[in-house]
Amino acid sequence: MAKTNGAPSPVIVEIRDLSKSYTPGCEDCAILDRVSLDIHEGDFVILLGVSGSGKSTLLNLISGLDQPTSGAVNIDGTDITGLNEYQRTVFRRDRIGIVFQFFNLIPTLTVLENVTLPLELRGDSRKRAEQQARVLLERVGLADRANDFPDKLSGGEQQRIAIARALIHQPALVLADEPTGNLDEDTGSRVLTLLLELTRQSGRTLLMATHNPEIVPLADRVYRIQDGRLVPVVESPRSVHPENQ
Ligand code: ADP
Ligand code: MG
Repeated sequence: MAKTNGAPSPVIVEIRDLSKSYTPGCEDCAILDRVSLDIHEGDFVILLGVSGSGKSTLLNLISGLDQPTSGAVNIDGTDITGLNEYQRTVFRRDRIGIVFQFFNLIPTLTVLENVTLPLELRGDSRKRAEQQARVLLERVGLADRANDFPDKLSGGEQQRIAIARALIHQPALVLADEPTGNLDEDTGSRVLTLLLELTRQSGRTLLMATHNPEIVPLADRVYRIQDGRLVPVVESPRSVHPENQ
């Protein structure tokens, strides 16, 4: 856990009794069943679980992309489950950075335009947005690709651009949903190292669903979603073999 003067850092994400069912009226159909979790500022938290266990569902509820059947998600003092769809969109745009498995870059925009988008959406001037995007492109090692379109880039490069886009508006919380799931092992490791470096350096909170075993020992907390519940991985993270989870 990230600490300040020996005390735990404040809680930035507070999840309380969160349930989600995609089948209205079916109590046994809950993908998530009364999940509660505190995530502290600056922590790196890993979410394990077999495919279909509900990792994306949980991340989508935290980002406000989806709404729970019951329960609450409080992020940095805002109960996002109490916001309407427009308010959730604005909150997500301002406060959350998301890295997806399939990169989700906009194919008709250049690399630079993809990275500046979060700043332009919130009304920053193009000049300022481009200045900051170029700094981040430098950090992810792709400054020379600013004017290329995403389809000219490899998967690893596209994910590095997606990381720059997720961080440019300096979000308090970064969510990553199997960010290496579509990359080969070596490329995935490099992408994870980069994401972790950039979030740690800036003290941001990172919640990541992943199967990559290399990164698990670096996490502050590891949880597994199992039968709709969130189970802390109590063993030393080093003893966890996520490919067997
Ligand atoms: P994971 O990310 O761990 O692979 P998901 O959260 O994507 O799992 O999915 C959990 C379960 O919820 C799966 O059984 C999936 O089929 C189901 N599911 C996910 N999204 C929807 C949806 N929009 N409508 C109905 N069922 C869904
Ligand atoms: Mg998923």
